[in-house]
Amino acid sequence: MGLITTINPSTEEVYGVIEENSNEEINEIIRKAKNDKTWPLMSIDERVRIIEKLVGILEEHTETISKTMAGEIGKPLKAGRHEVEISNKRVREFCNLVPVFIQDEEIFENDIERNYIRYESIGTVVIISPWNAPVFVSLASIIPALLCGNNVIWKPSEYAIFSCLELNKLFDILKKEGLPDVAFQIVIGGKEIGKYLVESDIDFVSLTGSIIAGKEVFENCAQKLHKFVLELGGKDPAIILEDADLDKCAKEIVKSATMYTGQVCFGVERVYCAEKRYDEFVQKCVDEIKKIKVGDPFNEEMDMGQFSVKFQLEKVLLHINDALQKGAKILYGGTKIGNKGYFLSPAVIVNVNHSMLIMNEETFGPVIPIIKVNDVNEAIRLANDSIYGLTASVWTSDLMKGEEIAKRIEAGTVEINRHGMSKAGCPWGGYKMSGIGRIYSKEGVRNFCNIKHVWVVKR
Ligand code: NAD
Repeated sequence: MGLITTINPSTEEVYGVIEENSNEEINEIIRKAKNDKTWPLMSIDERVRIIEKLVGILEEHTETISKTMAGEIGKPLKAGRHEVEISNKRVREFCNLVPVFIQDEEIFENDIERNYIRYESIGTVVIISPWNAPVFVSLASIIPALLCGNNVIWKPSEYAIFSCLELNKLFDILKKEGLPDVAFQIVIGGKEIGKYLVESDIDFVSLTGSIIAGKEVFENCAQKLHKFVLELGGKDPAIILEDADLDKCAKEIVKSATMYTGQVCFGVERVYCAEKRYDEFVQKCVDEIKKIKVGDPFNEEMDMGQFSVKFQLEKVLLHINDALQKGAKILYGGTKIGNKGYFLSPAVIVNVNHSMLIMNEETFGPVIPIIKVNDVNEAIRLANDSIYGLTASVWTSDLMKGEEIAKRIEAGTVEINRHGMSKAGCPWGGYKMSGIGRIYSKEGVRNFCNIKHVWVVKR
């Protein structure tokens, strides 16, 4: 049994230490989940009635969770509160949408026969989540999996374990409101424990994390033919056309790239701007990024804290240095702040090209690299020149042109005149190496179901 130690990323002091679960404990958790049918046999209305109560419970505990996230992963208080608020909204939306998405579907009927589809629970679902948005991202899979009638085993990230334990306490409250103990169980551990779970006798894995973890989970699921969904990293491009509203666009792009210190899968990581508006756009970006207040996450004024983990600061500095060595120029930011904590000033960087790490690997930091393009075709070619394909945005006042461009972009979500966040009911997931499968939408919710065709012969 190993120990997990999390570090306060502002002070670099130990935030907390906790023991991982042993294999024996995990086996027992799985055994219980496999054998108990209380939750799967409840009606969807009953399950909704119980899960809906989480909304009020989350609301009541917003401050505790936000403060834990500020201390453990350095998320500014106002960003933490926002995360809890949007999670709450998403729980409510799932409670409305899931019953519709999984109701029986009539396919064919005549005097002789009838065919319909049932969406049944799949069994024991393992949910493995990352540290960057521990509440929102975890609930995005936990809630639909539960509503579909599965017994859920959640392995949160080892880097946000105390924030996740706060969320787990809310499920303990929900258990007093009718959620069976076995319907939701937590496993504490790092990557090896995640691997152990995936290799165990479970039915489905939902992983949100890096491409490296995605490949390993894929391989390990193959051994037992476990079904899975993979929500992985992004290198999201924004394309800015000549007719874009640059004030709005610069503001939104800076917001997207600096949210949670750039540690967001859908943050803008590359910008391709029309030559005619390039100088103007770059200047506006610099003006906007200068307004971002960076500092102590407990200070209510701060827009951006520090990186949540040291390896993230090191990775971003590596990308910046690689770009500088290959000829890039920093117009603002990109330097470490202070002697304590993983703080970095958000950056705007130009003279970049696709040979640089900053343009071809997920940076996961508050850096906006901008390339000047001659025309739309060049912008689309460069946007698609990536192993990633999570989200992308197009900025233009010609909506028809924007939608034409959207058709040619290889990404799971393409937004026109906005960048960021998923929408309940609409699919979320990646093209190419950004993932396999979708969440949130009808197809995403149905991932958590076994699909059964019932064929009735009447006479
Ligand atoms: P990570 O891949 O290191 O870890 C994610 C989770 O997977 C952790 O709980 C970890 O313990 C576990 N894990 C790692 N290897 C495993 C294995 N072989 N088997 C089972 N479990 C394993 O990712 P991270 O650093 O925690 O998170 C950042 C990454 O997550 C970024 O790439 C980011 O883009 C991505 N992300 C994607 C989305 C999305 O919706 N697509 C959302 C948030 C984060």
